Amino acid sequence: MNETDSIDNLEAKPHPWWKRIPLTLQIVIALILAVTLGVALGAGNPSAANKSFIETLAIPAELVLKALRALATPLILMAVLHTFLTTNIPGTAGRRLAVLLFTNTTVAIVIGLFVANVLRPGTWGSLTAPGGGGGETASKSFDPWGLLKDAIPEAILQPLVNNNVIQLIVIGLCLAIVLRAIKSEQLAQGKRGFQSIEDIIGILFESIIRILHWVIALVPLAVFGIVGKTVAEKGFEPFKSLGAFVIAVLLGLTLQACYYLTRVKLGSWVNPLNFLRGGTDAFLTAFSTDSSTATMPVTFEILQTKIGLRESSAALGALVGTNFNNDGTALYEATSALFISQVLGLHLNIGQQLIVILTSIFASVGAAGIPEAGLVTMTLVFTSVGLPTQYIALLITVDWFLDRCRTVINVMGDMTVSALLDGKKPRSVDEA
Ligand code: ASP
Repeated sequence: MNETDSIDNLEAKPHPWWKRIPLTLQIVIALILAVTLGVALGAGNPSAANKSFIETLAIPAELVLKALRALATPLILMAVLHTFLTTNIPGTAGRRLAVLLFTNTTVAIVIGLFVANVLRPGTWGSLTAPGGGGGETASKSFDPWGLLKDAIPEAILQPLVNNNVIQLIVIGLCLAIVLRAIKSEQLAQGKRGFQSIEDIIGILFESIIRILHWVIALVPLAVFGIVGKTVAEKGFEPFKSLGAFVIAVLLGLTLQACYYLTRVKLGSWVNPLNFLRGGTDAFLTAFSTDSSTATMPVTFEILQTKIGLRESSAALGALVGTNFNNDGTALYEATSALFISQVLGLHLNIGQQLIVILTSIFASVGAAGIPEAGLVTMTLVFTSVGLPTQYIALLITVDWFLDRCRTVINVMGDMTVSALLDGKKPRSVDEA
């Protein structure tokens, strides 16, 4: 079973009428109702009598956020284990793939940090934490030795409890490497004992994704509450800041797309214009499904039929790489961390920004290509530099749109990797 199946199965079941309204439309309706409620409650000048009611409006968003935080570590762990156990990565091409994925993701994060440092979107308006107060402050400084010492947890389950992404990846990779080795040994001996553990991991991964779908179904309610409360208490001023954030993310994603096109032009035989034209179906599917995993079959197909890549390169980039490759998500996580630090008036020094780079790489690797996964793993990036995660509740209000945009970039990243793996020589007629 894979995530695509799970998404299809979930969508195939009959739903009550309100569930048949697309999530985006539900969120838009929630936004309109929330603004109306916020204006009715005073739009920045709430009466004392309404204060306690306004406070309760934040509860759904707080609950959604707690659930996202709780799901983050098991989601990443299972995504890493599942991917390593079920995908076959050939030797040399696998190493090239790893280098390309690492370079593209690092460039994405650096672009995200660059745009956020230059535009400083967090200073364009004012935002307060939904739960009131600023929450914890960014007190974690950069300590490379401390980071290394901290990479090994005191206990196996500690990273799951403390939401520590670096420790989690260390544990996940160790387990994945060892399970893979056992699988190969058993396969060589004709044994199939590994199958049960592979099945259990697949089922656990699927279960976490299903629970995540429940949480996502509550997002419109969370948006309604948080926007209603914000408008009632502060009027429309905070949305200036969120608008600046949206602009910064879109600019960053556009720059990343330009980087991809340049890489395609310089590193492969593919013409960037054909790459864009041929990829249209995949981009539209990514934007509308909000999931690079659901888009995977389309990406694989168009890479061969419309762009003309070899099947092996298309498979490696679009079927294998996509599991680890979420550059749009990585860029988004880094921009968000810097944005919130600016909102709080905190300066993340170079060392702390390096921690953001490192944790965003890990968080994006574990962001299973499903809707909102980036928002889930973002909680780990925030925790790594001591930023208050309550602010993520405010980002939920714009995430439904930005998620679609970063999913397009995630898919474009997979396509770029495929084109680069295809090299400088087009497929010959014999290979077709
Ligand atoms: N929705 C994104 C994807 O499917 C993941 C994310 O939430 O960033 O690629």
